[in-house]
Amino acid sequence: MLPPVELSLPEAGAPKKALRQTEQRKAVFEALMETSDHPSAVDVFMRVKAKMPSISLATVYNCLEALTESGVIRAVNHEREPSRFCANLQEHAHLFCTHCGSVTDLLLHTPMLPEQIWQLPQGVRIAHQQVSFQGLCARCGSPESQSSTPPDAV
Ligand SMILES: [Zn+2]
Ligand SMILES: [Zn+2]
Repeated sequence: MLPPVELSLPEAGAPKKALRQTEQRKAVFEALMETSDHPSAVDVFMRVKAKMPSISLATVYNCLEALTESGVIRAVNHEREPSRFCANLQEHAHLFCTHCGSVTDLLLHTPMLPEQIWQLPQGVRIAHQQVSFQGLCARCGSPESQSSTPPDAV
């Protein structure tokens, strides 16, 4: 169990530090909101560092962990790859592209509860659903991309 972060910090004790933490966390969150490409912690670090050069990778990890724990963002895990992060809190599944490694959000046509979609054995209670698919993303799967041009490196 991790201790609760930030919110329980004594305000009077270290106001400057608390403020800095808030700013860093905000910058990390904004970096995630700006994109839907599900960056890894290192990707987020590179993006935040461009705006806030003093930030460290360890801080970015801490911010991501705190944001994930408070439910503002989601950690997306696929096989043994490093976690990637998603700020889309709409119920959605993830498509992992087997060709370029991208992660795409897939939304339901109509929002439905897990028990409306899946056959749940009696007594099963879903706390959180994380559904993933593997296949080709729109870019890799479209007929044009079968031609010469490889997908741009992001
Ligand atoms: Zn997502
Ligand atoms: Zn792809």
